[in-house]
Amino acid sequence: MEKNYGLAGNILRVNLTNGTIEKEPSNPSVFKKFIGGRGLGAWMLYHEVPAKTDPLGPDNKLIFMAGPTEGTITPGANKITVTFKSPLTNTYATSLCGGHLGPELKFAGYDGVVIEGKASEPCYLWIDDDKVRIMPAKHLWGKNTHETEDAIRKELGDINVKVAVIGKGGENLVKYACIQTDYHREFGRQGSGAVMGSKLLKAIAIRGTKSIPIAEPEKLAQLTLETYQILANHPKANARKKMGTNELVDGINSLGFMANKNFTEGTSLSAANITGAAMVRDVVFGDVSCYGCNIVCGKNTQVLSSKYGKVRIEGPEFETLTLLGTNTGVYDWEHILRATQIFDEYGVDTMSGGSAVALAMECYEKGIITDEDTDGIKLHFGNGEALCQVAELIGQRKGIGAILADGSLAAATKWGVPELAMQVKGSDFAAYDPRGAKGMGLTYATSPKGAHHMIAPTFGVEIAQNNRFSEEGKAALVRETQFFMAIVDSMALCSSMRFALDLGKQLQFISAVTGWDLNEQEAMVIGERILNVERMFNVREGFSRKDDTLPKRFLEEPLKEGSSQGQVVNLEKMLNEYYELMGWNQEGIPTAERLGKLGICY
Ligand code: SF4
Repeated sequence: MEKNYGLAGNILRVNLTNGTIEKEPSNPSVFKKFIGGRGLGAWMLYHEVPAKTDPLGPDNKLIFMAGPTEGTITPGANKITVTFKSPLTNTYATSLCGGHLGPELKFAGYDGVVIEGKASEPCYLWIDDDKVRIMPAKHLWGKNTHETEDAIRKELGDINVKVAVIGKGGENLVKYACIQTDYHREFGRQGSGAVMGSKLLKAIAIRGTKSIPIAEPEKLAQLTLETYQILANHPKANARKKMGTNELVDGINSLGFMANKNFTEGTSLSAANITGAAMVRDVVFGDVSCYGCNIVCGKNTQVLSSKYGKVRIEGPEFETLTLLGTNTGVYDWEHILRATQIFDEYGVDTMSGGSAVALAMECYEKGIITDEDTDGIKLHFGNGEALCQVAELIGQRKGIGAILADGSLAAATKWGVPELAMQVKGSDFAAYDPRGAKGMGLTYATSPKGAHHMIAPTFGVEIAQNNRFSEEGKAALVRETQFFMAIVDSMALCSSMRFALDLGKQLQFISAVTGWDLNEQEAMVIGERILNVERMFNVREGFSRKDDTLPKRFLEEPLKEGSSQGQVVNLEKMLNEYYELMGWNQEGIPTAERLGKLGICY
């Protein structure tokens, strides 16, 4: 029988309502059409979750999907995706997580796991190669993320079992709760943890002992060696190895487009306290890597605090540092590490959590909310203790935390100032102020899951080409980057591998692993297909051009200081050009003709 190279062979379907567990053979021709991971997850969500499904109801699904290179020796091939309808945005959502979970799932014999329905009481899923069971978890409900991982490994008698868990944030349906693995790796952003909590699923534990068939093992070994050598000598990869993603702080801050104080400022002198170099000097005590990577960007950190005792975490990486730190005006390790630890233990996304607190701080400073709303917490920008107090309240859904747990847009709307929520489609911005890199404005506006930088991180090219303040040509750049990133995500590749692997090299890896012979043009069509499926999910939910926009702050309020001073985003022209290039109408709806060419029926 012909082998499906690169694939584990089955997709697991678990229905928590009736307790059924089924294995479906992985279909290589569908994989070829979408590569795997993000692409296949989007296709399955579009077909299996009908329009207007309640994101926190039993009909929503969690579709965990690995990629074909995942679990092989391909460098950085460790990102597994979970795809679902977001309770934060009501849009399509997908979230990627590194670490070791995805490779372990492949070793257990599965390319994906689809979670359906809702359990009658708390449970966890135990995947032990071919033996798959739904286990009771009443005794785990109420535990934080780290306690849950430890308890499950102890219960199963194996410290090497890989576990994905939710904390109390997911149980309490915080709309941006995340799923966590390896203690500090998250499926972050649009609320996968809340969806898992709504299903009363506390965890998924995996042990796998099988191997993955490879089409050309020698070619794969050669490509892998070459890539490791390129990465070992690459200045950017080396900066990341030394400082993690916080190597970005200096550059983005000095170019004046780093989130500061709910995006009221684009730069701060105080950021000098928390640069990558300062982190290495002050708090780093070890390195952490995902499966199969020689960049090793994860940093173990600790601070000895008179208030909080020994605070020991992994990270924070750049987005957390910025959204929890500079965006709340907090520029010290003690409070940034402690706030990260609180959100990690509750299983709550640090970026949306930080954005929600930053919004509340701006509202407090402007007198829109008062001590009465905050239970006396002095929510000024820069108050690190207040940041930590509110982080706890969000995880618990108590006091002002109950309002912020529904997301910054919901909170700002309740307070009568929706324009102060820095979000698109309900999802909060990443660190990069789009006024300092105009392509990022279009990226955020058109992302299928709300403001998300990794859908098309164009800022690096914009800086290199010295045209970051221009809107000219950005529609084409964003479109191409979106397609490229869809391939990276669907292969299960860490985005940092872009330092060594252009599209051509990525396709060589796909070919060595699977035997598929894709050229660059064919690959970009797959990327386009994925973007269109994601778009169609949202169109069916009622999203269109009116939702592809940015907060007024980015469109109308010029940055006051720094290297991006005076800049605003002129979005409409870029949007017109982007729709034109995508073959969509000017309402942002894909045309039947374009969908037909991409082989998508609707
Ligand atoms: S670069 Fe960092 S995030 Fe990416 S695979 Fe390596 S350790 Fe993981």
